[in-house]
Amino acid sequence: MKIPFSPPYINDSVKNEVMDSLESGWITTGPKVKKLESQIAALTKAPQVLCVNSWTSGAILMLKWFGVQPDDEVILPAYTYSATALAVIHAHAKPVMVDVNEDFNISLKAIEKAITNKTKAIIPVDIAGWPCDYPEINQLVIHKKGLFKPDNEIQEMLGRILVISDAAHSIGAAYEGKQTGVLTDVTIFSLHAVKNVTTAEGGAICLNMPAPFDNEELYNTLRCYSLNGQTKDAFTKSKAGAWSYDIIFPGLKINMPDVLAAIGIGQMEEYICKTLPERIRIFEAYNEYLSQREWAILPKYKSNKKQSSCHIYALRVSGINEEQRDQIITLISTYDVAVNVHFKPLPLLSLFKEMGYSIADFPISYKQYSNEISLPIYPQLTDEEITYIVKAVCESVEQVLYAQEKL
Ligand SMILES: *Cc1c(COP(=O)(O)O)cnc(C)c1O
Repeated sequence: MKIPFSPPYINDSVKNEVMDSLESGWITTGPKVKKLESQIAALTKAPQVLCVNSWTSGAILMLKWFGVQPDDEVILPAYTYSATALAVIHAHAKPVMVDVNEDFNISLKAIEKAITNKTKAIIPVDIAGWPCDYPEINQLVIHKKGLFKPDNEIQEMLGRILVISDAAHSIGAAYEGKQTGVLTDVTIFSLHAVKNVTTAEGGAICLNMPAPFDNEELYNTLRCYSLNGQTKDAFTKSKAGAWSYDIIFPGLKINMPDVLAAIGIGQMEEYICKTLPERIRIFEAYNEYLSQREWAILPKYKSNKKQSSCHIYALRVSGINEEQRDQIITLISTYDVAVNVHFKPLPLLSLFKEMGYSIADFPISYKQYSNEISLPIYPQLTDEEITYIVKAVCESVEQVLYAQEKL
């Protein structure tokens, strides 16, 4: 049996939507993107949703819109994918990394300590699809209003730190019944090939700015900003007689094409009724099998407040170090089962090391990373495959643990 880590889920609806786009005579940003935006708005109840070509470019767009500058600080967890910090760097601000909790998510206490009068934004990350402590984070930025120093009209209008959630993993997750998408000012989903809902490459920005911001007006501004700062998109301009346009901002070119939005439309149709419940089913099956092993530290996916989107199954093995974890992964690969590690904390990566970040400052991130193994989780997995994966994992872990006891 050969188990890949995360193959895309391509149903007939996806194929039909893509063919429809290809045959329609219009393949870049147009009606399919609008439809995908409205599907995501219907799911999340976000006032406005703007699709772009990746999570990363969406985050750069939002930070540029907010007007962050070289001296400004943006707080984010050390435990995340590199894009969270790279977006801040590309927007010319300074990433300020903080440590996480045992649930892998950014620590509220650590955020509180890191806030200064230069902090312009916070990017909490819903690791594995588990929502962060948003009511507390939102409360904290209000509480710290006095420290906030606005540098432009937009920042003055908000009057506090902007909260952008990195919801790359958490489409479909909820906090007290409210979907990610409306838990913070701005939420960005990734629609990359390995994510719960994909367009091959893509991102969706949920706009939920408080009054006096007008989210519809903001959508129009950002849409224009995502298309070179051009007043008309190519679809509108292609209509007879509508050739004339203007450039009003130094915009980015990060729009999503219709042919990719078509993949997302087909996926969204089955997400809530089928593919998300399937992920939850697999997560529960792993938890049930592994709860019988004393070495297994099981990941959380449900509490009285939170519901995960079950994007990653982040198993931890108690009592092993990083080297033993790597040995276990090598053993698991001999069963032809692909597993992964989410994530290598940013300070362990060369770029961030060279920038002066040190893993010693993030002990919980390191502890969580050193014994973490992500198991395959996607709707196509059968019960037989799940049993096989559990067997491969248990035998591999126990071989390493047992070898240790024998010494
Ligand atoms: C995948 C991912 C991103 C980047 O998403 P792209 O759409 O590839 O830009 C950002 N943050 C996290 C936590 C991710 O897992």
